[in-house]
Amino acid sequence: SQAALLANEKLAVAGRLAATIAHEIHNPLDSVSNLLFLMDGQATPEESAEFLQIAKQELSRVTQISRAMLSLYREAKAPVTIDLKEMLESILLLMDRRFLDTGVTVATDLPPGLQVRGFPAELRQVFTNLLTNAAEAAGEGGKLQLIVHPAPAGFDENGHSLPSGAVVVISDNGPGIPEPVRSQLFRPFFTTKGESGTGLGLWVSKGIITKHGGTISIGSDTSEEHHGTSISVFLAFDPVIQLGGD
Ligand code: ADP
Ligand code: MG
Repeated sequence: SQAALLANEKLAVAGRLAATIAHEIHNPLDSVSNLLFLMDGQATPEESAEFLQIAKQELSRVTQISRAMLSLYREAKAPVTIDLKEMLESILLLMDRRFLDTGVTVATDLPPGLQVRGFPAELRQVFTNLLTNAAEAAGEGGKLQLIVHPAPAGFDENGHSLPSGAVVVISDNGPGIPEPVRSQLFRPFFTTKGESGTGLGLWVSKGIITKHGGTISIGSDTSEEHHGTSISVFLAFDPVIQLGGD
């Protein structure tokens, strides 16, 4: 069933996240214990002061990571106000190591003060899925863009009114998505990654965004083959959220 698949994908994401977090916390803690060891030895007062400074920075990184993790697992029962800049920055912090290891760089434009209503853990899952896909598509040394901008109220092509909100755009310089593949993307289990893909990321993401009264679309101008991919997520400032179901 869809609920069981969603639960499965959540577990898989939680597992990957736990591994990432362990990795993220391990490095700074390692470096703190090395610094303490040096300070305990024959370090000069000047060296000790410098080591102390570095150790503080490393520990603050651990604190930031554990904060990001706590906010992820304290899932709300009702939609809450979410600051998009804050949420996206904390997601990038958790993904940092993975980007560093693969030489992927992320250019951001995250204006402050853009807020939407929703379920933080679910939206985090969406943006993590989309950034992961973008990084996988862009490959070694790839370039990603993460941009948020306000979307004033207006009308769609059928004359239906659209509420005001914010758009999150994730772009990559990967190979793009060929036309025949585009219509398949949001189907469960559709993957072009063979054994290493689940084909659930976009399907789950679309489910979550739809539940939030938002839309997710693939930029048709920018996603021609060899021109990378651009995925836009629209979220209303004050959406009608479908509750229940999971
Ligand atoms: P998975 O990542 O496990 O394959 P997804 O549902 O996340 O599953 O993505 C489905 C498919 O959509 C991918 O296998 C890939 O072919 C395509 N895709 C998604 N994002 C991108 C992207 N940024 N660039 C190119 N192809 C993409
Ligand atoms: Mg994916």
